Amino acid sequence: MALRMVRSVALGAAALAVLAALPSAGIARPVAKPAPKAQSAPAVQPAPGAPKLIVAISIDQFSADLFAQYRSHFTGGLARLASGAVFPAGYQSHAATETCPGHSTILTGVHPARSGIIANTWIDQSVTRAKKTVYCAEDEAKAAADPKDYVASVGHLLVPTLGERVKALWPTSRNVAVSGKDRGALMMGGHVIDSVYWWKGAGFATLDGRTLTPAAVNENKALGEVLAQGAPELPLPDWCGAKARAVPLSATFAVGTGRFALAAGDKNAFRASPRLDRATLDLATELLDENKLGKNATPDVLSVSLSATDYVGHGYGTEGSEMCIQLQQLDLALGDFFVALDQRGIDYAVVLTADHGGFDMPERLDEQALPAAHRVNKALLPEALSAAVAARTGLDAKDLVLADGPSGDIWLRRDLAPADKARALEALKAELLANPDVAAAFTADEIAAAPAGTGSPETWPLIARAKASFYKPRSGDLVLMLKRGVVPIPTPGPGYVATHGSPWDYDRRVPILFWRKGMTSFEQPSPVETVDIAPTLAALIGLPVPAGAFDGRCLDLDAGTGDTCGAKP
Ligand SMILES: [Zn+2]
Repeated sequence: MALRMVRSVALGAAALAVLAALPSAGIARPVAKPAPKAQSAPAVQPAPGAPKLIVAISIDQFSADLFAQYRSHFTGGLARLASGAVFPAGYQSHAATETCPGHSTILTGVHPARSGIIANTWIDQSVTRAKKTVYCAEDEAKAAADPKDYVASVGHLLVPTLGERVKALWPTSRNVAVSGKDRGALMMGGHVIDSVYWWKGAGFATLDGRTLTPAAVNENKALGEVLAQGAPELPLPDWCGAKARAVPLSATFAVGTGRFALAAGDKNAFRASPRLDRATLDLATELLDENKLGKNATPDVLSVSLSATDYVGHGYGTEGSEMCIQLQQLDLALGDFFVALDQRGIDYAVVLTADHGGFDMPERLDEQALPAAHRVNKALLPEALSAAVAARTGLDAKDLVLADGPSGDIWLRRDLAPADKARALEALKAELLANPDVAAAFTADEIAAAPAGTGSPETWPLIARAKASFYKPRSGDLVLMLKRGVVPIPTPGPGYVATHGSPWDYDRRVPILFWRKGMTSFEQPSPVETVDIAPTLAALIGLPVPAGAFDGRCLDLDAGTGDTCGAKP
C-alpha cells in the first residue's frame, strides 16, 4: 500500500547492488542514509555551459507515425520541440516493444537485453506464489493475496539510470520522476531517486515506505475535486473533423467519435483521457519547486512519462477523434509546462521520445487501405498451443505451454525432462511455423547464438531484434513473432481494441526530439536509437561514463561545426 506512512527510507539491496556496480573511478558510493553534503568541490565539474536541468519526457505509445501525421498541427510544446534537433526515426530497436522495456532504454542507454526488462511481464516458474507471472515493476517477494496489490519496485532493472549516475558523481543533484504509470516513472528514474510519483487509481502514489510530499498531496486534493465533480467534453479541433467517424466493434460498442466527457467519479475514464497527462505535468511543475530543480549546484534530472496517449490508443485506436483530441491537448499541456520552466528562469534541456509506437485497430485499418491487418488466430493462445504440442508429443497438456498472450515469449513447463523438453520445443516451433499468422519463431538457443544487431536498426534481421530483448534468466524458451499487421488481441473489448508490442516498425519507431533555448534547429532523418539518448545527455552535461556502459552513441546536437559530444580523440 503505497500511501501508508512508514518510518524511514532505506535503499533496497537491489539499489545498493546497482550502485556498487557503478564504475568506481571518482564516483562516490551512496550509503543507506542521507548522503552527507560534499565537503569540497567534486573532482569532476559539469561541462561549461551545461544545462542545469535535464527534462526527459516519454509519451507512451507516441509512434513516429503519429508524430508525422500530427506534426503540422502542433502549436504548443511539441511545436517548440520540433524546432530543436529532430530525429524522426528513433528506434526502440528491440523486438518486445512494450512499456517497461521501452522506458528502460531511454535513460540507461542500454537495450532490454542488458537492462533486464525484457517485457512488461514474464513467467518465472520458480516463484512460489500461485501466479507465476512477474510484473516488471513489482517486488514479487512481497506479493499480496490480490495480484493487483503488488508492491511497486524498480528492483528488476539491472543497470543505473542517467539520474542515478548524475547523483553518484554529484550528490547535490536531484533525480525526480513522475508518470501516469509506475513502470514509466521507475524505469526512467531508477533505484536512487529523490522523489517519484505515479498515478494509482485515484491519485498519485509513491514507493512503499515513503510519504507523499506536499506537491503530491496538493495535486491529489485538486484531482479529487475534479473526479468528484466530473468534467465536460473536450473540444474537437477542426482539423480532426474527418476522423470523427464511428467504427462498430460489436453489437454493443463502437469507437471513433469519443470526446472525453468525464462522469463524476469515473476514474477509468479519467485515466484514458488527456486529463491524466495534464495532471502529470501539473505535478511535475510542483515538483520543480519542491526539489528546487535547475537551481541546485549541479545538474538535476526530471523524468516525465505521459501515459494517456497509450490508454487512448489501446481504448480507441490511433485514427479516431479520440487520438486527435488527445494529441492536441497533450501539445497544449506540454506548452504550458515549458512556459512554467521558462518563468522560473531555469536553464533546461529537453529530450522527448516514446517507449514504443503503436498500431491502429484492424477493423479501421481494413477500411483504410490495409486489408491485410487482422486479429490474431486463437490457435496461438497458450491453451490451444498446449493442446497442440501435447497432441504432437504425447506429453501432458496441462500448463505445457505458458505465455502472457499470443505473441512474444513462450515458456515450456519446467518439470519436463531434457529429452521431453527438446521434443516439446521442436513440436511447438513446428506448430507455430505452420500457422499463417506467424512470421518467425526462435528458440532461446538460436537467439543466444545469433549475432547482435549492428548498423541501422531499421534493417536488423528479426532475430537481432529478438536478441536485443533477450536476457536468459527471464526470457522464454521460444519467442513468437506475428506477421506484420496481425494484432494480438483476439477479441476487442471496451478499453482494449488496439495495441503494440511487435517487432515491426510501427511499434519500434518513435520520434526523438532534443530542445534547448537558443539552439539551431536541424533534422536528421537517418535512423538513431533510444539508447543514444543517455550518452547524448551525459556528454551535454559533462558526465564521465566508462567505455562500454552504453549500447548507444552520443548524438551531436550542434547543427554547425561545434560538437556537443566533445572533441573527437
Ligand atoms: Zn507504453
